[in-house]
Amino acid sequence: MATRFWYKQTVSEVLEHFDVTPDGLSANDARVRQKQYGRNALPEKSGPNPVLVFFRQFLSPLMVLLVVAGVGSIALGEVEDAIVIGLAVVVNVVVGFVQEWKAEQAAAVLSRYEIPQTQVRRDGVVEVIPSTDLVPGDVVLLEAGARVPADVRLIEVADVEVDEALLTGEAYPVKKQTAAMRNSAALGDRANLAFMGTLMASGRAVGVVTATGVRTQLGDIAQLVSETEDEATPLQRQLRRFSILLGSIIVALAVGLSGAGYLMGSSLQEMISFAIALIVAAIPEGLLIAFTVVLAIGMQRMLKRKALVRRLIAAETLGSVSVVCTDKTGTLTEGKMSVTQIRTRERVHTRMDTAPEDVRLVLVAGALNNDVGVSPEGEPTGGHPTERALVNAALAAGINVTDMRVQHARVGEVPFSGERKYMVTQHKADGVQTIVKGAPERVLAMCRLTEGDRLYWEGAAKEMTQQGLRVLAVAAKDKEQRLDEVPTELTCLGLVGISDPLRASTRDTIHRLEEAGLRIILITGDHPDTATAIARDAGIDVEGHKTVTGTELDDMSDRELRDRIRDVAIFARVSPQHKVRIVKAWKAQKEVVAMIGDGVNDAAAMKASDMGVALGSGTDVAHETSDMVLLDDNLATIVASVREGRVVFDNMRKIIVYLVSDTFSQVVLIGGALLLGLPLPLLAVQILWINLVTDGLPTLALTTERGEADVMQRRPRSQHASLINGEMLFLIFVIGLLTNVGLLLAFVQLEGTVEIAALRTMMFSSLAIGSLIYVFAIRSLRQPIYRMNPFENRWLVGIIAVSIVLQLVVMYVPVMQQLFGTVALDGWMWGIVLGLSSLQLIALEIGKELYLFVQKRYAKSTA
Ligand code: ATP
Repeated sequence: MATRFWYKQTVSEVLEHFDVTPDGLSANDARVRQKQYGRNALPEKSGPNPVLVFFRQFLSPLMVLLVVAGVGSIALGEVEDAIVIGLAVVVNVVVGFVQEWKAEQAAAVLSRYEIPQTQVRRDGVVEVIPSTDLVPGDVVLLEAGARVPADVRLIEVADVEVDEALLTGEAYPVKKQTAAMRNSAALGDRANLAFMGTLMASGRAVGVVTATGVRTQLGDIAQLVSETEDEATPLQRQLRRFSILLGSIIVALAVGLSGAGYLMGSSLQEMISFAIALIVAAIPEGLLIAFTVVLAIGMQRMLKRKALVRRLIAAETLGSVSVVCTDKTGTLTEGKMSVTQIRTRERVHTRMDTAPEDVRLVLVAGALNNDVGVSPEGEPTGGHPTERALVNAALAAGINVTDMRVQHARVGEVPFSGERKYMVTQHKADGVQTIVKGAPERVLAMCRLTEGDRLYWEGAAKEMTQQGLRVLAVAAKDKEQRLDEVPTELTCLGLVGISDPLRASTRDTIHRLEEAGLRIILITGDHPDTATAIARDAGIDVEGHKTVTGTELDDMSDRELRDRIRDVAIFARVSPQHKVRIVKAWKAQKEVVAMIGDGVNDAAAMKASDMGVALGSGTDVAHETSDMVLLDDNLATIVASVREGRVVFDNMRKIIVYLVSDTFSQVVLIGGALLLGLPLPLLAVQILWINLVTDGLPTLALTTERGEADVMQRRPRSQHASLINGEMLFLIFVIGLLTNVGLLLAFVQLEGTVEIAALRTMMFSSLAIGSLIYVFAIRSLRQPIYRMNPFENRWLVGIIAVSIVLQLVVMYVPVMQQLFGTVALDGWMWGIVLGLSSLQLIALEIGKELYLFVQKRYAKSTA
């Protein structure tokens, strides 16, 4: 089929070509075309090249060191060492490879959750379907915030602007229209077309799909809509820097010490083995990998709790979030709106099925000035909850909405927007009728009212908002209205009160967030009284804080806002621009802000925040901007994910203390022996075994720790808190020191009396078994071990059991003995080994107590 210039054809020509009416294709046509044209999707990004991923594993500086150590061992003729180092390299490469591979798969799973949905009209009924199911000829409905799902010829537009930067690079949104164009135009000037991947910046449109998938303009240029680059999170970067620093210090130390030893007369061969042992000891092989696993497990757990982490960084930021800005509908409330009250000049009416004439008039107007569809079965389809409530109420009153809409066809409109807070439609009547619905203060200002009327309506609106109802005023006139001007001279037909019950979990959620030291800020487009009533119900401290409206915000400078922001719990009647200011003001107070949003206009505020959170039901733009999506829209999901975020951080810290304190012990032991002119207390292969097996396996179990009981009773950690803090360094130091004093003393004492192979086996097994024991205490860096149930983590218990068996294998199986230079130990030697291996545990417990003691003293002296 030759490319047609759809923009040069009229709407009816296009409809005719695709053999479709504005009512859409029939379900059958759609099926046939789907077979013919295939899925509406661009070819997927090809996965990573496994060979590249494999070789990338060798690029880390730590791996390079290991390889160097291996080559060194071969040069020295230490074949066993070389073999084990080679094995360590292989293990690392394999684990790294598997890990990266898994991360790729996780990303694929996440993207499956994110197939965009589209409103399409088929058989005259609006349905929501995955965009991938669209076919040429489909009639799609587009709203502000949506990504255009295919190439579309617009057949109906209201106030439409489309952001086409993706295709044309044009920064400003382009106005759209429906008329055929006479002259040839460049892509960016084809004002009656909307292209796949571009963004509905405002308004509402209906269009016919002209091309799908690779046949679209976007498919043509084969550009991917959103390339997500994997970048390291700040903590990952911190950790990488830390391990490189650690590595370099120890390499320098190794070279320095062994160089000095050689100059003082030790043999070169011996000094090189010392250096290799030190280097091998210093490399925290599992650290970086462990971190990735911790983050990945965190993300998985969040997903189970219905929080979809889109960017790895969110899993991390979550742990430090201190302010949550949330809207009301759907997050605090169920988002199931229903009309519970209608006020006219005559009455307060609450039962829709017995609506008298004046109430019916309000309902008819509310159903006409409305974008929600009605299915043949008489169910509302698509559209916004507020408007669905209105259609439902009209249907309940027995009004035939579909007929009404045919009789009073729409001839003009100004769509609803968060800034305007009202919506205008015009309909065929005898002449033309104008209907307006929107926020009462807006709409009443457009009405012709006597003083008495005004007092009445304002009083009524106040009563209704104070009951927590969302209130819309409905007004009309039997005249045409210029759509580029604010309407005037309207008659107020009535007020509609819509209730949206609080979610059952909300009170508890708010309580738990506050307990965790988080501030909840309610930001809503609704009336301050409605917001206050709902907030009070939700348990937000309304009395102790202020409510600020959008108008008041306009009168405040950024500075004033920043100074007063801590006193405000509710921002009401705000328009989307205000949200950015609120977020920035909180950030200026050094808080970590999560911004929950759903609409196209929330995107800026979400970007400005530390963590953008989109509602699952939100628009495409909100999803794309977000770091995380609440699949169930529920605020409670934030609680669950903040908890997981904190656990991620805690687990990482525990793993660091665990691995680094062992590194420290090994380095001091070897360095100490070297300085004292003693033989090497541990062989390089033994160190590798400790690092990979008796440290490595328990670390795996530590990544699955579920968090301590009080994680949600602590204050959020400061944003700038570094991953490794004083407390951890203190613990590492205490553990390393005490353990070393013990080990070195034993080594010095026994050296010469016990054969060196046996002595090394003792040192080796003390450290190895020590690691397997004190991992139980590391499960909390604060709580003493006797206050925890050390066997709670089943994984850990299982892994420790396996590791003990493996350790015995290394000590007693002949082949292993040869490889690892071990010998069987006598009973008394075992006694010493067990004594020495409890040192780390004891040291850690003393360290915890000491730290808490010092901290308390310090707190007292500063109080
Ligand atoms: P929430 O925080 O509860 O999600 P919101 O910020 O989404 O609220 P908006 O949807 O912007 O609030 O609504 C603000 C006001 O605009 C409402 O109080 C109502 O009076 C009016 N309004 C809402 N939806 C419509 C609509 N479809 N047509 C006309 N007026 C509307």
